[in-house]
Amino acid sequence: MNILVLGGGGREHALVWKLKESAGVQALYCAPGNGGIAADAQCISTDPGDVPGLVALAERFHPDLTVVGPELPLVNGVVDAFEQHRWPIIGPTQRAAQLEGSKVFAKQFLQRHNIPTARMYGVYDSPGAAYGALRQVNWPVVIKADGLCAGKGVFVALNPDAASDFIQRVMEKNELGPGGKRVLLEEALEGDELSLILLTDGERYVSLVPTRDHKRVFDNNQGPNTGGMGAYSSDDLLPDDLRQRIHTTIIEPTMKGLAADGIPYQGFLYVGLMLTSSGPQVLEFNCRLGDPETQAIAARMDFDLAEVLSDVAAGKLRPEKLKWKSGASACVVLASGGYPGKFESGKEIRGLDDAEKIPGVKVLHAGTKRVHHQLVTSGGRVLGVTSTGASLDAALQKAYQAAALIHFDGMHYRRDIGRHGRRTSAAGD
Ligand code: AMP
Repeated sequence: MNILVLGGGGREHALVWKLKESAGVQALYCAPGNGGIAADAQCISTDPGDVPGLVALAERFHPDLTVVGPELPLVNGVVDAFEQHRWPIIGPTQRAAQLEGSKVFAKQFLQRHNIPTARMYGVYDSPGAAYGALRQVNWPVVIKADGLCAGKGVFVALNPDAASDFIQRVMEKNELGPGGKRVLLEEALEGDELSLILLTDGERYVSLVPTRDHKRVFDNNQGPNTGGMGAYSSDDLLPDDLRQRIHTTIIEPTMKGLAADGIPYQGFLYVGLMLTSSGPQVLEFNCRLGDPETQAIAARMDFDLAEVLSDVAAGKLRPEKLKWKSGASACVVLASGGYPGKFESGKEIRGLDDAEKIPGVKVLHAGTKRVHHQLVTSGGRVLGVTSTGASLDAALQKAYQAAALIHFDGMHYRRDIGRHGRRTSAAGD
């Protein structure tokens, strides 16, 4: 089997890593890939948002299966285009991808099917209407830009000044692009966050191991939001009674709701949850795997990923094939100095070979490239040091031991990834 992976971050390196271990895989392509993926797959320079360009790429390389990493190609309709050619691809259609592409679409879906979620105050198409609505909300209030905003479209505002400032930046100054033309306001939920990702062929579905990620840049959840500074997975995150409750009140109604609305959904569906005192509620849907959650999930995979994904593309998912390593996994992201603000690139990376000698450690690349046989930084999030262990403590200890062996100028990372996971009722990350 020849497989094409779309994307070029740590999530895609994790996919390539596991696909390469699959028995039936002959050739792996990744578009665009990165400096680390290049060691495992043939990287092809491309713009992942350009659907005609991706069709041309598939015409050239004839993949037997394409796996989509990021949301942009999905929201732009890559699956619809590939399906017209009858090319197997993992991911939802453009219409189904609206669950991530439009917060308003997702909220209306949740309300229509009585799935627990934060109460919405309203949807606003003009800044004036949004400012006006602030007079009638409880604080804090959550403001969500409707469209894709590269992870920057959600703001929890503690007071009217902070809320007005965000609305102005998003709706008047267009700082987040067209995704900010419309906003919704909703109540703020409190609790621990949990990510549960489903894999579905449209009929059957299976959940992957649970994960929790860390969005803020500094320890103790300080500083601005990032794409994700780390993640971990352990079975303790999701006790059986909670799993059952999430399935009954959220997952089942979501799958039935999609079917009832005539929105066939195939691929990964990421369900972001807040575990509130009155039960689990949906914060968001993503139409793809998370980054860096995928790195922690991949580390625990104990099955043939290519085989399972081929089953999904053929509409024949066999949930029992997904076997997982017991224990836990962790991913610690090493970021460029200044990230998530302005950062410099082109810094030489050292120490990877030593780091990967630690048993159970895999260094997954995100923002790296090769220049004259040298590996240098090329993005904000540079590497995801990923590890497994019999316990979360053991996995974290290995990841941090490996991180300490790696160096590039300006490198920084959080020292408290997974810390909440060692307490049962901690504040969510
Ligand atoms: P979203 O993209 O909708 O998941 O939002 C990103 C992050 O914003 C979530 O992971 C939460 O940390 C936070 N968030 C979103 N909605 C809410 C809410 N209603 N209450 C509290 N926090 C929220």
